[in-house]
Amino acid sequence: QVVSLALDEPPANLEITLNKVLNDEGQTIGFIKIIRDLSRENGLLQSKKDFIDIAAHQLRTPATAVNWALENLNKEGGFSPEVQELINIGLISGKNLLKIINDLLNITQIEEGRFGYDFKEINLIDFLNKLLADAELFARGYKVKVYLENAGGQVSVWGDINKLGIALSNLIDNAIKYNIANGEVIVKVEIVGQFVQVSIKDNGIGISDGDLPKIYERFFRGSNVSKAKIEGSGLGLYITKNIIERHGGKIWAESVVNRGTIFYFTLPMERSLIPSR
Ligand code: ADP
Repeated sequence: QVVSLALDEPPANLEITLNKVLNDEGQTIGFIKIIRDLSRENGLLQSKKDFIDIAAHQLRTPATAVNWALENLNKEGGFSPEVQELINIGLISGKNLLKIINDLLNITQIEEGRFGYDFKEINLIDFLNKLLADAELFARGYKVKVYLENAGGQVSVWGDINKLGIALSNLIDNAIKYNIANGEVIVKVEIVGQFVQVSIKDNGIGISDGDLPKIYERFFRGSNVSKAKIEGSGLGLYITKNIIERHGGKIWAESVVNRGTIFYFTLPMERSLIPSR
């Protein structure tokens, strides 16, 4: 019989397992130590990450330029409906492309511990109003109305405004794009103990019970969204969950297929509730 023993932190690139060998009476008659060199595996993993990082960096500059050109063209106005339609398609696809590139860069930074945070006090209501105004054009494209419901007046949270912007935009954009025509999105702010709880409710296509636990995995996309041909990369919620948890908050969702989804997340109102790492 061989019994595994726990070992202290092994040196980097080495995986060490120590096994105790027992005879039929249960007495120790020896030890087997297995040392696996993981340098090759780790090297391959690192070069894969580096490749994604470099490729995404290289793609970001031309993608930004294409978006900038299309946005300026759009501002000119006065186009025939056919040309305007082509510009709109270009704008939406350009925005999607840039989002995928930025998501890939964010993921490599998260996984390498380089996703730096700068915590400050944020007026949550002003911040949400600005994000909802930014989402206005996107919502109009999907014929969806977005509302903010806030019973509690001004609320402050501690957070990194850029990172929270990424997390909230992901949730708001999802609630819009997985909605139905003439659907609505209600963003609600409540105070629960020392935390602010934000919910984003839509009346869209929903998430099945089987898919619900998997939606925060990288590249995961629900079976119904592929059928409905709604664009996406499956990267947004992985990043969003990371950001919320780094703030000391939690994220979860409730959903009924073809009825809608509510995403909830919490954020601390006190700086002391933010984890040190
Ligand atoms: P993406 O939207 O790019 O596919 P996300 O990581 O943001 O990636 O979401 C993962 C999956 O979770 C989506 O593909 C979809 O199946 C599901 N999902 C997320 N938000 C919603 C929502 N509001 N309504 C229905 N499904 C959703």
